[in-house]
Amino acid sequence: MKPATRFAQRGRRARSQPRTVNLPVTRASTVTFASIAEMAEAQRRFEADEPHPTYGIVNMPLRVAFEELMVDLEGGHRAVTLPSGLAAVAVALLACVKAGDHVLVADSVYTPTRRFCQRTLARLGVETTFYDPLIGAAIETLFRANTRVVYLESPGSLTFEVQDFPAIARAARGRGIAVIHDNTWATGLFFRSFDHGADLVIQAATKYPGGHSDVLVGAVVANEEWWPRLREASRDLGQTASPDDLFLVIRGMRTLAARMREHEAAALAIARRLQAHPRVKRVLHPALPGDPGHALWKRDFLGSAGLFAFELEPTDDRAIAAFVDHLELFALGYSWGGYDSLIVPANLRGARSVRPWQGGPLVRLQIGLEDPDDLYADLERGLERLGAA
Ligand SMILES: *Cc1c(COP(=O)(O)O)cnc(C)c1O
Repeated sequence: MKPATRFAQRGRRARSQPRTVNLPVTRASTVTFASIAEMAEAQRRFEADEPHPTYGIVNMPLRVAFEELMVDLEGGHRAVTLPSGLAAVAVALLACVKAGDHVLVADSVYTPTRRFCQRTLARLGVETTFYDPLIGAAIETLFRANTRVVYLESPGSLTFEVQDFPAIARAARGRGIAVIHDNTWATGLFFRSFDHGADLVIQAATKYPGGHSDVLVGAVVANEEWWPRLREASRDLGQTASPDDLFLVIRGMRTLAARMREHEAAALAIARRLQAHPRVKRVLHPALPGDPGHALWKRDFLGSAGLFAFELEPTDDRAIAAFVDHLELFALGYSWGGYDSLIVPANLRGARSVRPWQGGPLVRLQIGLEDPDDLYADLERGLERLGAA
């Protein structure tokens, strides 16, 4: 063989397959077969919904491993892999609707979810009604003959309203309405969406499963009833995540339970201390007694995450900048769920249509894995700067 042929053909078969602890990163578009019979058998197994690889976009080892872990985390029947949490939101909704349908979406959802409904779903002829996240069983009054989805996100983005999930899911049952939950905040460790009546569950694995602020991945898990629709939508839209990203998220999953306990305890300790601070009007954290969502949280949740918000006493932008801009341990930035602490002034402009935010300036904190005493001291110094400005 000439060099060009040798360079293409050689060095492709591993001589040994060491039993490493972790799965190797397998990069592949093409999967090859030894014969036409083997190819047909692989195709048959794929069609029979076995997690069998036929091509790089489906059922490669890291993807299958990630999907198994997501089912383990959230419950449900099977999962699909998406390149971000927002892609998971889009695929979950698209799996359930067609032109002429109507969807009910909590007013407190993640803002990009709201925009997906207002722009893309609207363009496809699907109408969205945003509902008061505190509506509970009265959601029934909003059902129409063409309502196909009730979408929940509990607690709500930025404002942390806890929804009466079982009441809403019960109202939807038996009407062919899919109950979709974005469970990114609690994860399946702290909220069992399927036990409370969800049909599809979204997890932005970018956040807690990834855990290190270095990867974007999403998942949707469906129960048995909705799995065929989810599988179809995911396949037709041709989305997956790269093996390198899946490797990182799977690595993050190994420590998820330990990290969540730390995030929970540290966030609660800091939230309690902030409650007593004179510059803080109110702390929005459902695990605090006295929070409007506390009773429902206590009834339905098994724990709380490291993300919450607080409302400042009335102040101006300059004073908020004096607080935020010079923090040592909290970086200013979006996303959350990593080992690192973050702060972001909440922007609720255009983010609510049913329950506009009536309060003062709102700041969101992601409490990372640093020592909570150091984190609180940083916030305290910042609030002194805010007072002085
Ligand atoms: C961050 C987030 C998403 C989107 O996840 P990305 O991976 O950043 O696209 C979806 N839902 C919620 C509640 C989120 O916080």
